[in-house]
Amino acid sequence: MPSPAQDLLGRVFGYERFRGQQETIIEHVIGGGDGLVLMPTGGGKSLCYQIPALVRDGAAVVVSPLIALMRDQVAALLQLGVRAAFLNSTLSAREAYDVEARLRAGLIDLLYVAPERLLGERTLALLDEVDLALFAIDEAHCVSQWGHDFRPEYLQLSTLGERFPDVPRIALTATADEPTRREIVDRLGLAGARVFIGGFDRPNIRYRVVPKQGPREQLARLLDTEHRGDAGIVYCLSRRRVEETAEWLRARGIDARPYHAGLRGAERSATQDAFVRGEGVVIVATIAFGMGIDKPDVRFVAHLDLPKSLEAYYQETGRAGRDGLPATAWMAYGLQDVIMLRQMVSGSEADEARKRIEIRKLDAMLGYCELATCRRRSLLAYFGETPAERCGNCDNCLQPPESWDATEAAQQALSCVYRTGQRFGVGYVIDVLRGKDDERIRRFRHDRIPTFGVGADLDAGQWRSLIRQLVARDLLSVDVDGYGSLRLTAAARPVLRGEAAVELRRDARAPAQRRAAREGRGSVRAVLRPENQALFDALRARRREIAESQGVPPYVIFHDASLVEMAERRPHLLAEFAEIPGVGAAKLERYGAAFIDIIRAHAPEASSPAGTASP
Ligand code: ADP
Ligand code: ZN
Repeated sequence: MPSPAQDLLGRVFGYERFRGQQETIIEHVIGGGDGLVLMPTGGGKSLCYQIPALVRDGAAVVVSPLIALMRDQVAALLQLGVRAAFLNSTLSAREAYDVEARLRAGLIDLLYVAPERLLGERTLALLDEVDLALFAIDEAHCVSQWGHDFRPEYLQLSTLGERFPDVPRIALTATADEPTRREIVDRLGLAGARVFIGGFDRPNIRYRVVPKQGPREQLARLLDTEHRGDAGIVYCLSRRRVEETAEWLRARGIDARPYHAGLRGAERSATQDAFVRGEGVVIVATIAFGMGIDKPDVRFVAHLDLPKSLEAYYQETGRAGRDGLPATAWMAYGLQDVIMLRQMVSGSEADEARKRIEIRKLDAMLGYCELATCRRRSLLAYFGETPAERCGNCDNCLQPPESWDATEAAQQALSCVYRTGQRFGVGYVIDVLRGKDDERIRRFRHDRIPTFGVGADLDAGQWRSLIRQLVARDLLSVDVDGYGSLRLTAAARPVLRGEAAVELRRDARAPAQRRAAREGRGSVRAVLRPENQALFDALRARRREIAESQGVPPYVIFHDASLVEMAERRPHLLAEFAEIPGVGAAKLERYGAAFIDIIRAHAPEASSPAGTASP
């Protein structure tokens, strides 16, 4: 006999089996244990508290930091036939009163609450009166003052354990680094909790890093060739870059919208809404965007600027492809990124210990960018896993980069930096290496030094790539004076003396990228057989109509992954329809017939006799 958890997984959520550690976590919480769950974005954290909420008596209280998104989370549960509700400041007094009454009457299984609301005396008193199944604290890293998502209200959540000692608490986050983890345990009073560290792999995401050569054009090419009409997120570091990039994409006919902390609250939630409810909206954002958005059909995440750490990168890219369908994590990376981030760290006000951590994180990030081997392997190893040698789904696995013995060129570059007095930036050094006829060079008499013109056989782009890699490997440092002068580091000496060889990767050129684009596509279309595309579009259109009539995001009706299966398997009977992943009892009853109608209308040959769809 299936366990109650297994039964709910199929009957309510429409999934066949648990992923990773879900089952262990769920059984632990059902048994009344506290837990801390670390799983990547898209790993499937929600089920870890939703199923125990349904199995245990009483209502589960879910603490969630983003008011704007609670409504969508609750909408998705209501579609599954789960008795869910939220309490936050967007409700009128009357609506809130109604939720409270239903809670008292035992008619709510999952209650989503904003932390400040939860900790108000009124809500705490309400919770004293009712049976509680558990507390789930989502985005638990918000309690950490180290991270950029810090929410002061989260600090007070420790009182939950004191006030409700018999109610199990489960904290969940995708931020896994050790200091954050310790802080969560400390501040939420979870010392006795079992810690679950989920598998960090997201096999459907294809990781790619390209050298920056006109990043906007490169991005546009990616969207044109692989992600036409797809929803995605483009991350930039500054507000200005966000605004400019969004405008530039709009001019190219892409429904791109800016998002950053400088926008008014109303604008921000309108943008979030458009993204969640739309099908092909691209958000151009600073890191302020994304937390708590569990839109499953984000097809790509693009970085036009380098994130500060692999933790941030993995969290941001993890927002792609939660539905398990192919998705792309793409990043354009160049010398300027390296210089800027190095300057940011060394110029920051932080104390030495903190700086050392930041430098280590930045080095890991740069190492990832310059990698010539499997990117997934390196990411997973960073998060403490021991994955296979090659994943087969990253740029380096699909098109192994060439490497070359750059020892001599590196010596020339290092020597040129030294001989020009370690006072000049990249552009000047390259001009000297290539022997440019230049007034400034003559004035400084740098046309007389031995390295003048020795590097004419490499073009400026190749030299930039080389210098970038030398900086990334810390053979060269970039001054914090703001002029970006290059200097030798101690590590440069053995290279200059000919005691150490330098092997570098050759940057792919644009045509190679185009070929890669044709070969491997990260879009939903790639998993559909061509004869099923039209049906898929029709199913999508039907979904859109239903979603609009109910005022909910399309994905809460069905995920793309479910539509893909419908198009591929073409179920004609309700019993067959029930086998589609994501179809539980409630959705079968509500939507089965409507979608089967579409499938029949698109049948390749109209063979099936009418009427067989009735149960
Ligand atoms: P997280 O909160 O960890 O980012 P979610 O809980 O939103 O992830 O889950 C990510 C996606 O995976 C969701 O679309 C969810 O429906 C799906 N999912 C979760 N668990 C399973 C499972 N056992 N089988 C199939 N799909 C699952
Ligand atoms: Zn790989």
